[in-house]
Amino acid sequence: RHGRRDARRARLRGRQQARDDHISYVDSLPSGQEKGLFYALDLGGTNFRVLRVQLGGKEGRVVKQECDEISIPAHLMTGTSQELFDFIAAALAKFVASEGEDFHLLEGRQRELGFTFSFPVKQSSIASGTLIKWTKGFSIDETVGADVVAELSSALDRQGLDMKVTALVNDTIGTLAGGRYDDNDVVAAVILGTGTNAAYVERANAIPKWHGLLPKSGDMVINMEWGNFRSSHLPLTEFDQALDAESLNPGEQIYEKLISGMYLGEIVRRVLLKMTEEASLFGDDIPPKLKIPFILRTPHMSMMHHDTSPDLRTVGAKLKDVLGIQGTSLKTRRLVVDVCDIVAKRGARLAAAGIHGVLKKLGRDIPGSDKHRTVIAMDGGLYEHYTIFSETLENTLREMLGEEVSSSVVIKLANDGSGIGAALLAAAHSQYL
Ligand code: ADP
Ligand code: MG
Repeated sequence: RHGRRDARRARLRGRQQARDDHISYVDSLPSGQEKGLFYALDLGGTNFRVLRVQLGGKEGRVVKQECDEISIPAHLMTGTSQELFDFIAAALAKFVASEGEDFHLLEGRQRELGFTFSFPVKQSSIASGTLIKWTKGFSIDETVGADVVAELSSALDRQGLDMKVTALVNDTIGTLAGGRYDDNDVVAAVILGTGTNAAYVERANAIPKWHGLLPKSGDMVINMEWGNFRSSHLPLTEFDQALDAESLNPGEQIYEKLISGMYLGEIVRRVLLKMTEEASLFGDDIPPKLKIPFILRTPHMSMMHHDTSPDLRTVGAKLKDVLGIQGTSLKTRRLVVDVCDIVAKRGARLAAAGIHGVLKKLGRDIPGSDKHRTVIAMDGGLYEHYTIFSETLENTLREMLGEEVSSSVVIKLANDGSGIGAALLAAAHSQYL
């Protein structure tokens, strides 16, 4: 009887957990033995990056690497699938053409690529997966449900580029792989950039969704898709609700809309607009530009927030340049900084709560007898550049973990670790192994 009850409980638990986390098909993180020339392509936000790396095995490690960053024209983010992938393939072909003498492809081999695609994907093997939905301002209906590796491979063919995609990963998985290659104590990866997501290493036998053979390592990397987290315990203001309702993906990515770089500036704009409408913050007329969605970007917000000049000169300049608002009083500029402070700190504290949740799941939130380090590989422009945000996040995490535990927890900025990570996973899943 107990058995049956336990099974029912497990089923219920499984149902409650029917969230958005995905098995990555990555069951081994880089060993350090990886050797040869590999490429990576990172698509996941405003820019995409291409990278090549010559790996020299245990001794040589990363012998040489080169990368290039290309921004995606806005019209391609909502155009056709073929246009988007052709643009990417063309840029990649150009990059491959510039490969120098320091890079060596073994005779008779095809170039291999790790594809970092940072949108929700239903993975069906290490090198295939269908797009569940676009996020972060992308919206191309025909790609939804399509295998993104097939889409990319056809575009590579159209460019006449002989290259095989051997690994499809998310930026979190790439960051985790790159982070682990660099530091053995990395247990999780978090992205705080245009969007947000996290991944961690789980024991495969603790995964209810896993029905296949247990991987040799016993580990499986979980892509949490935590940007899509929502809960009645996650209070939403009228500004959050309106932002969501008017977004390209209403009802989705609620946590992401509270904490990531794509949205923080937009929340501030909405608050300032209401303060103008109801309390004439910027005088009697409503500045027309303040009504334009997404005109106030998070980097603008960050610059205003970090303004240390006594007369808040940068705040004045940003209000003028970005929103066309002139001649603000110091008192008004202070209010603007306060709004930035509230929005940024709320986001940072919520992000810290997410990291705390992962550490809790891993049992790394309690003082252990074995004093191991716990390292979180972090990537993303928001965390990297928005100092008040990253400091608030770290302070909050310390607050939640307590001094003792937090002294062994490290957040490590893995700058573009996901690129190297994807190349390493391409190597680990090479067709020539
Ligand atoms: P992506 O997430 O698109 O892969 P990044 O990790 O480089 O790219 O993050 C870019 C995002 O980081 C931007 O969309 C922006 O929201 C945020 N960001 C970049 N620079 C700053 C800055 N100076 N201050 C605050 N946020 C920034
Ligand atoms: Mg990125």
